[in-house]
Amino acid sequence: MDLNLLTICYLIGSVTFILGLKMLSNPATARRGNLIAAAGMLIAIGGTIFLYRNTETGDHLHNYAWIFGGLLIGGVIGTLAARKVKMTAMPEMVSLFNGMGGACAALISLVEFNHLSRELYSNYSAEYISSIQPTVLIIVLGLIIGSVSFAGSIIAWGKLNGKVKDFSFTGQNILNLIILAVALGAGAFLVIHPEHNFLLYAILALALTYGVLFVMPIGGADMPVVISLLNSFTGVAAACGGFLYNNKVMLTGGILVGAAGTLLTILMCKAMNRSLINVLVGSFGGSNNSASISGGKDQGNYKEISLSDAAMLMSYATKVMIVPGYGLAVAQAQHACHELEKVLTEKGVEVNYAIHPVAGRMPGHMNVLLAEADVSYEKLEDMEQANDEFKTTDVVLILGANDVVNPAAKNDPDSPIYGMPILEVELAKNIIVNKRSMKPGYAGIENDLFFQPKTSMLFGDAKKVLQDLLNEVKNV
Ligand code: NDP
Repeated sequence: MDLNLLTICYLIGSVTFILGLKMLSNPATARRGNLIAAAGMLIAIGGTIFLYRNTETGDHLHNYAWIFGGLLIGGVIGTLAARKVKMTAMPEMVSLFNGMGGACAALISLVEFNHLSRELYSNYSAEYISSIQPTVLIIVLGLIIGSVSFAGSIIAWGKLNGKVKDFSFTGQNILNLIILAVALGAGAFLVIHPEHNFLLYAILALALTYGVLFVMPIGGADMPVVISLLNSFTGVAAACGGFLYNNKVMLTGGILVGAAGTLLTILMCKAMNRSLINVLVGSFGGSNNSASISGGKDQGNYKEISLSDAAMLMSYATKVMIVPGYGLAVAQAQHACHELEKVLTEKGVEVNYAIHPVAGRMPGHMNVLLAEADVSYEKLEDMEQANDEFKTTDVVLILGANDVVNPAAKNDPDSPIYGMPILEVELAKNIIVNKRSMKPGYAGIENDLFFQPKTSMLFGDAKKVLQDLLNEVKNV
């Protein structure tokens, strides 16, 4: 292998990506891992811009104004967006950025096919066509996967911020399959006959339509699976770009994202107790099941608890388990929550956190949120661990969680979340639920837990409630 400076840059880039990914798996090292991988990316990009030489002509890159113009505009938008984004809007932003990756891969395919088309025009021969067919195959794959990822991620972004509602119609799955089959068929035809260049735009339109239609019907509780799947699509689409340019670092980066996204998809499917096919073909978690929607049936009465009673109950408990959910992120109450945990611990109470894999709005959301408040990683218990602990727990404090503790997932075969494993908080002696109202969570369904005799509601914004609770606990 030609060990020139650019190859070394790419090697450093690839190694830092792997190292960064490894470090991201632990909250204690995640931040550093992210920075290391970003530094590797900077080295790889810088190397490409300044050190790249065409193997045949020896030419370096041109169009520096375009390259630096693009870097500047993208860099400024990315930095501002990341600085301004609220923690609660983070999942949407991740989805949007993932979509941009897919769009880049699709654009690369369009541009490169255009180059090939021009050469084909001036150099038309059977030999030339057969020599470019492998490249056209990669271009078509990159275009289809990248476009599906882009369109799907934009719909997922809309669903996460509430602007796009679930939408399905009879026969949608069949239509989706037909669109996908036609796109793949047209792609195969284009590989064989690359002179029919108009087909590329038809494939683009079909892939974009498929991306929209494939995510549209997927309901609330299945969104984590779809988001991970779209993530892996973007990785594979970027890897196609790596093949196309014979660029090792792009290939490594794409494969790593694709593999990580695929593993995450498998983990999310396991967490939801669903097969991938079921997620893609069914419309689980959709909010159109009238029997289960808020207000659809009479749930009976719920009881409330005062701040002082809640403080008393927790202060005299031996074991307290905190269940964080999306509402904790909305309220930005993670620091107040950590404070409460510390004060209770000082009083001799054992306090831990029960983490459901799909709590919040993105994979690992609760881990990130609590890590931000310096909650010790040892205190976080995964779902199985926590479910074993609940029977010996005196008080479960639910902070802005709803779907992940909804017993309908176990008891009600008609519920759209039936089959999803939940945190079995009903096993504990007392349950305190903090939320602002009796409104449902993301899946749009009532929660029987709130009406059970062991459960008491502590209404209010999580931050305010936790701050007041903290003062009460200090005074006990
Ligand atoms: P839910 O969305 O089920 O419930 C959150 C609850 O928080 C709401 O019921 C809301 O009630 C309450 N809340 C909102 N704001 C506040 C506040 N300021 N203070 C106190 N409470 C508040 O959240 P879960 O974490 O239990 O479940 C996650 C859901 O999101 C699942 O259905 C999951 O499938 C889905 N999802 C998860 C993704 C992931 O990757 N993790 C991605 C996409 C979807 P109220 O309005 O009454 O306050």
